[in-house]
Amino acid sequence: MEEQAMNHLSPLLVQSSGICAERGEGSWLFDGEGRRWLDFTSGIGVTATGHCHPKVVEAARDQVGKLVHAQYATVTHPNMLRLTDRLYEHLPRNLDAVAFSNSGSEAVETALRLARQASGRPNIIAFTGGFHGRTLAAASMTTSTTKVRTGWQPLMAGVSFSPFPHSYRYGWSEDETVDFCLRELDHVLMTQSAPSDTAAMIIEPVQGEYGYYPATKRFMQGLRERCDRHGILLIADEIQAGYGRTGRFWSHEHFDVRPDMLITAKGLASGYPLSAVAASRALMSSGAPGSQGGTYGANAVACAAALATLDVMEQEDLVGHAASEGAYLLERLQALRDRHDCIDEVRGMGLMLGMEMVKAPGQPDGDRAAALLKACEQNGLLLLRCGIHGQVVRWLPPLTASRQEIDQAVDLFQDALEETR
Ligand code: PMP
Repeated sequence: MEEQAMNHLSPLLVQSSGICAERGEGSWLFDGEGRRWLDFTSGIGVTATGHCHPKVVEAARDQVGKLVHAQYATVTHPNMLRLTDRLYEHLPRNLDAVAFSNSGSEAVETALRLARQASGRPNIIAFTGGFHGRTLAAASMTTSTTKVRTGWQPLMAGVSFSPFPHSYRYGWSEDETVDFCLRELDHVLMTQSAPSDTAAMIIEPVQGEYGYYPATKRFMQGLRERCDRHGILLIADEIQAGYGRTGRFWSHEHFDVRPDMLITAKGLASGYPLSAVAASRALMSSGAPGSQGGTYGANAVACAAALATLDVMEQEDLVGHAASEGAYLLERLQALRDRHDCIDEVRGMGLMLGMEMVKAPGQPDGDRAAALLKACEQNGLLLLRCGIHGQVVRWLPPLTASRQEIDQAVDLFQDALEETR
């Protein structure tokens, strides 16, 4: 039945595993034939509280019978209002207004629109390797791969790119890389996007799709300083790295900077479609009434799930758990790197870790990463990869993953390393 149904699914919706999941529970996925997988992809970082956390399920189930949809241009609902208050407790103090939508890309579009409306300036500076989504504006600011950019140009005008501190790729020290990147940013401001034309800089403080690269404090502070000097807005795309994933509530907190706008999605509602942009009230009021949002944003069930997600995060200290278990996972992956020449670097923060697979130092090996993932899948572990060559094995377990599950996953990966030698 599934095979027949697949015939009608767009072939461009790449399905990297052969799994057709019927049920999820905690860190586990189950198919209809009695097989199970330890899911260390979390639906690309979405099911941060694990699959079907009982408290999230209960909240969503309860809400379905009360109210599913109320369009916020017409009426509000208590879950949405409660959620804005609860989010405010976690947001930087300068961000006191929230706008909801359904997906990461939509929220990126909202942030871009706001930045242009508030500043009256046309241009955006984005950073090499950044991923911001697949819609036109988001794809125009994305350079993690050419895939989302190719074949439907012209993309949105007004975007310049400046280098992100990929020390590993450049083969330079962190300091050399940051010096280079900040010099290039000044050059971009002098040659491509004059400050008086630049509305915003948009950055993932920890890059996801390009290969799990954290920025550095000096780099992020360099951006903040230039934004302040020139009246440019700093937008943190926290869609993948935010919401506890890196062991702090927001990934920008690692770098002691405050963004002027923050975009969140993925972990926000444990899998119910919900995204948000946070900004100051003044900034958030720059457009015309009705220019923000859409029909479905802030769905009442998604907001109920988001409130329960925050309860779970607080009650189970998932941010602290991501920090401690992330440090443990990092240690175990680094031990594997020390024993296997095919792993060149392990990097990332919290439970957002990437492993660079190589043929020889500095020579990316996407084929090995693909073979590893296949072997893992056969052994009952689901992992993803990323990077331009698909060479980075990414570890993105639910924030609820137990020490025992982490050990089990690393052991299964180790078996796959032996099997794919
Ligand atoms: N920004 C980042 C950092 C992301 O990781 C993603 C999704 N991988 C997006 C934006 C786009 O989100 P969505 O797929 O929900 O549109």
